[in-house]
Amino acid sequence: MAKTLGLKCRECGREYPVEPMHVCEFCFGPLEVKYDYEEISKRISRQKIQEGPQSLWRYIDLLPVEEPKVGLSAGFTPLRKAENLGRLLGLDQLYIKDDSVNHPTLSFKDRVVSVALSKAVEFGFDTAACASTGNLANSVASHSAQAGLNCFVFIPANLESQKIIGSLVFAPTVVAVEGTYDDVNRLCSEIASELPWAFVNINIRPFYAEGSKTLAFEVVEQLGWRAPDAVVAPAASGSLITKIWKGLKEFLAVGLIEELRTRVYGAQAEGCSPIAQAWREGRDFIKPVRPNTIAKSIAIGNPADGIYALQVTRESGGDWETATDQEIVEGIKLLAETEGIFTETAGGTTVAVLKKLAQRGAFRRDEVVVAYITGNGYKTMEVLEGQLRETVHIKPSFADFKEKILARV
Ligand SMILES: *Cc1c(COP(=O)(O)O)cnc(C)c1O
Ligand SMILES: [Zn+2]
Repeated sequence: MAKTLGLKCRECGREYPVEPMHVCEFCFGPLEVKYDYEEISKRISRQKIQEGPQSLWRYIDLLPVEEPKVGLSAGFTPLRKAENLGRLLGLDQLYIKDDSVNHPTLSFKDRVVSVALSKAVEFGFDTAACASTGNLANSVASHSAQAGLNCFVFIPANLESQKIIGSLVFAPTVVAVEGTYDDVNRLCSEIASELPWAFVNINIRPFYAEGSKTLAFEVVEQLGWRAPDAVVAPAASGSLITKIWKGLKEFLAVGLIEELRTRVYGAQAEGCSPIAQAWREGRDFIKPVRPNTIAKSIAIGNPADGIYALQVTRESGGDWETATDQEIVEGIKLLAETEGIFTETAGGTTVAVLKKLAQRGAFRRDEVVVAYITGNGYKTMEVLEGQLRETVHIKPSFADFKEKILARV
C-alpha cells in the first residue's frame, strides 16, 4: 500500500495525483501532500525510527519520497538544553534546535531541499532551480552538484556577499535579479510555467515543504517522545511554521505521541512582518509589504503560506512577535555569548522574539520551550561589523601584553 494518497487543495479539497504541480486548477489554492495515516501507523514505530539513519530520512514513512536520492545527511541536528540563556530568561527547560549546523549548507533549507530534489530526481527532472533569499540557493546549488543536476538559482541582487559565494562555489548559474525577493519569485513562477525545470519552492513546493516537518519530528524524538509546550520559529513564507505544526499533528495521528498541546509562536523582523501585522490587526489575510530589514533570509513581503501560518498560531494558542534590526543583532550576540552558538539574522530574530515573549510572561518557568535556530552566522557576518568588541592590537612582546591586556582586565 502507498503511504501517499495524492495531492490535495488546501482551499477546496480537490485531489490530484502525485505530480510536479503546486496549485489547484479550479481555485488556485496551494496543494499539499495527502497521506494514508492509517496505513502509515501500521508500519511506523518509535523503535523503527530509532534504528533508522542519523538523518531526516529516519522519518521517511512520513515523507513523500520512495527512496532518498540526494541529501543523505541532512537533518538530525542537535537539540541543546540552553542552561545559560534559560537562566537569563527565567526558563528552566529551554532548548535550542540547532540547524545552524545542518548538513551540507548550514541552514534548515537542507531539509526541504533534500526532500524536494530527491523527489525531482524521482520525477525525472534534469534541472533544478529556485527563487531564494540566500540559504535556499546555497542548498539547491550544493544538492544539485551532488545529484549531477543542472542548476539555476535566482536571488535578489542585494544579498549578503557570503551567501552569494556560498552558492557560486557549487558552480550553478546564479541569477541576481534587480528587485526584492517577491519580484524574484514572480519572475520564477513565470519561468516555471515555461520551462521543464524543478523549481523546488514553486512547481514542486508541495514536496519541498514536507521536509520542514522533520524539525518537529526530531524535537519530539529528542525530547524523549514528547511534544514541547511551546516552540518559537522564524517565518518568511510561513511554510516552516505551518509544517512544524503539521508534523506535530502527524505524530499524534500515527500514534507516536499521546497528546499535543504545543503553542506555536512566530517570529518576524519588524522591517518585514506582514504575518505578524495581520495577527496584530486581527486580519485573516495578508497585506504585502516592501521588506526593509537586515534579516534578508526571512525578508518575504508577500508570504505564500502567511494565512496558514496565522491559522497555526490561532489553532495552537500561540502568538506573533517582531524584532527590530538592532534587537536582531542583540539576539545574535545574546545566543553567542550565552550558548556559544553563532546564528544568522533569522536566528537573531528568533532569540530576540523569544526574549520578548519570556519577558511578557508567555511561558511558565517549568515549561519545555524550544527555539528554532535555522541558519548559520558565518553567512551574514557583515551585519556585525562595528557591533562587537574590538580586537586589541599589541606588539609581540610581554611588556606590551602586560600594558595593553593585563592592565585592563
Ligand atoms: C527560509 C528560512 C526561514 C523561513 O522559511 P519559510 O518556510 O519560508 O517561512 C527561516 N530561517 C532561515 C535561516 C531561512 O533560510
Ligand atoms: Zn482548490
